[in-house]
Amino acid sequence: MPLSEKKLIQQIRRSVHGGESVVAGIGDDCAVLRVPAGHELLVTTDFSIERVHFRRDWHRPETVGRRCLTRGLSDIAAMGGDPRAVFLSLAVASDVSQRWVNRFLKGLLDLAEEFQVPLAGGDTAQSAGGIQADIVVVGSVPQGKAILRSGAKGGEQIYVTGELGGSAAALSQLAESSPVGAEDSRHFRPQPRLAVGRWLRQKGRASAMIDLSDGLSTDLEHICAESRVGAEIEAEAIPRANFGRRKNPVDLEFALHGGDDYELLFTSAMPIPPQVEGVRVTRIGRTTRSRGMRLIAADGKVKRLKAAGWEHFKKN
Ligand code: ADP
Ligand code: MG
Repeated sequence: MPLSEKKLIQQIRRSVHGGESVVAGIGDDCAVLRVPAGHELLVTTDFSIERVHFRRDWHRPETVGRRCLTRGLSDIAAMGGDPRAVFLSLAVASDVSQRWVNRFLKGLLDLAEEFQVPLAGGDTAQSAGGIQADIVVVGSVPQGKAILRSGAKGGEQIYVTGELGGSAAALSQLAESSPVGAEDSRHFRPQPRLAVGRWLRQKGRASAMIDLSDGLSTDLEHICAESRVGAEIEAEAIPRANFGRRKNPVDLEFALHGGDDYELLFTSAMPIPPQVEGVRVTRIGRTTRSRGMRLIAADGKVKRLKAAGWEHFKKN
């Protein structure tokens, strides 16, 4: 990396804008943030680690930067919150080009600009190998209004935004050494669903919510565990991403267990329109008072649904 730490920080500092929540941003020992009166703070942190979350030969640097921030913004969306400031801790090995870092930062800062969230600080270091980025997003939500994973009751409907499985299908194709076309690589540029999350919170429509980062089956299990309910999912109802030259829906397995979609999964006792803030919303099943997750196949057969999404440290 040709630039020194100091130069890189100066460069980052020049390319960021302040925001109404940032009293003091990059350049001091701490950022000073202003929180709206009557709001509570939301804080989330997410790693993006080379060869764990991305590969330099599979993902463009802009995509890695964009997805790095998406992971954080999506967590804020899942609480029904508003993002206020972003912090980036970046460790880069000495053999990574300055160009890669610049393009990574561009991807990240373009998304920050899109959602009007200022980069207000971070840390920069040389890594012992590869690239590690940790993103921190600070958000806020009116007091007591955060949408938790624990609020679902039995007998509610389960909804999901957008389409699932596109990112996993693209990864699987790359793993088979086939390149992914431009149209399909868009699955690596998910859209954080902040507007939908905010709408659900303002209207009080969601009883529990989570963002889909590890896969539907695994993330649904988190809602079930925290809310102490079970779930029945209708396989046919799951909105699957279209993939490949023929734009066929991805395999059900990708939609059920594939990660990195960053859509919202939520429960509600109230009806939800098929489109919220321009985003498709689909009912995929219901919660049950009896625990456990079940999948209802197209032929009506019911089988157990196992959480089989992404999990670190899983031995297999
Ligand atoms: P300190 O040693 O006091 O932590 P640094 O020299 O690490 O200070 O950072 C100087 C300023 O630059 C701080 O405001 C810090 O938040 C900011 N900063 C450092 N690295 C980054 C980065 N990767 N992205 C955004 N801001 C950064
Ligand atoms: Mg520092």
